Amino acid sequence: MRSGWWTLLLAAVCAGCLSANQKKTTTEAGAMNLQDAYRNLRFPQSSYGGEEPRPDWWRCRPEEIVAVCESVRRGKARVVARTAAGFPVYAVFYGEFDDAPRPSNWSAAGSSGSYKSYYGQPEKQTIVWATGFHGAEPEGVVATVNLIQMLETGQDFRARSYPRILELLEQYRIIFLPCVNMDGRAISPDHLKGTDKVTFRKACQGEWPDGRPIEWRESKEHFPLPLDRVKHPGGYPNADGYNIMHDATPGNIRTAEARAMLELIERYGADFFFNGHSCEGKPFMIMPSEISYQVLVQRGLDLADEINGRLAAAGLREGKPNKVASRTLNFNNLVPLTSGGLAMSLECNSWAESFDDMVESNFIALETILESGLQKPLADREAILRGLE
Ligand SMILES: [Zn+2]
Repeated sequence: MRSGWWTLLLAAVCAGCLSANQKKTTTEAGAMNLQDAYRNLRFPQSSYGGEEPRPDWWRCRPEEIVAVCESVRRGKARVVARTAAGFPVYAVFYGEFDDAPRPSNWSAAGSSGSYKSYYGQPEKQTIVWATGFHGAEPEGVVATVNLIQMLETGQDFRARSYPRILELLEQYRIIFLPCVNMDGRAISPDHLKGTDKVTFRKACQGEWPDGRPIEWRESKEHFPLPLDRVKHPGGYPNADGYNIMHDATPGNIRTAEARAMLELIERYGADFFFNGHSCEGKPFMIMPSEISYQVLVQRGLDLADEINGRLAAAGLREGKPNKVASRTLNFNNLVPLTSGGLAMSLECNSWAESFDDMVESNFIALETILESGLQKPLADREAILRGLE
């Protein structure tokens, strides 16, 4: 547990809070919950040293995420899940959201001749923007927390604004999940800038008792990771050892985090699901999985290629990855099955030259997605189902 977080949370929330006693009580209850969740963690925060000091705006600790979500007034913040350790998973909503039950689900409605019995006729497309699947990959979390701050106040924690994004977001409904894996975040460093490759592996995927890092593919031999056989699990899994990114078996979803996201995707008919990650290399939008509707695969290929082009134009990478569908099988594959939506993942660069560059790819991706969606639906359900008998 970090010293001083309790004070920090109360200070951050109270700075902008209403005078009502009820608000204070809610905040104190929230802080107690966080304290309990920290106590429930089986492993301490990993600390290998060598990281540069973070700037003030780099907010990604659980108490900082909670403070920002609790400060939301223009949008609506809601706890949509409790992690295995007891941390709250927040979703922050911007736009009009109707909770009326849908007469059908995507699968049935898509086969009925009128998918609108599920999808309805929404005026705006819906984006679910989820970051922090993996605890030691905080770049997406920092970006989302700053996006929320910008939507609330006009400026992010750097006193910076992205007016084009603010303007475009008016045309959408968006749900931000700043940190999907709060358990993993709680035991991960604030960032890995300035660290070496072995440290990166250990912080991300964990460490065996003999000190050997758990390699990326090796970590996926287990679901869940056997927590009694590791020295430290890294930030990948939640407190039960599950890598939420691979909690993708229909009928056997293991984590509250994945279940909550699927509920949001279905209930609000998500057109696009953004899945935020980080790596040691240059940033890139991962090409869509070929395991989906062909219409969505093509839409995803075009969109990823456009985003990668803009990342290159911004000087964050050189050239573009090949425009070829991947064969990834993970949480994203459930999105077209659940809402008919398109799901894609971004990899940020945890080792970029500046802290700004570490998060900038999120803003570029978001702006590109929003612009693209106004030219052509992000998930054109007419086209998806055309010719269906
Ligand atoms: Zn990841």
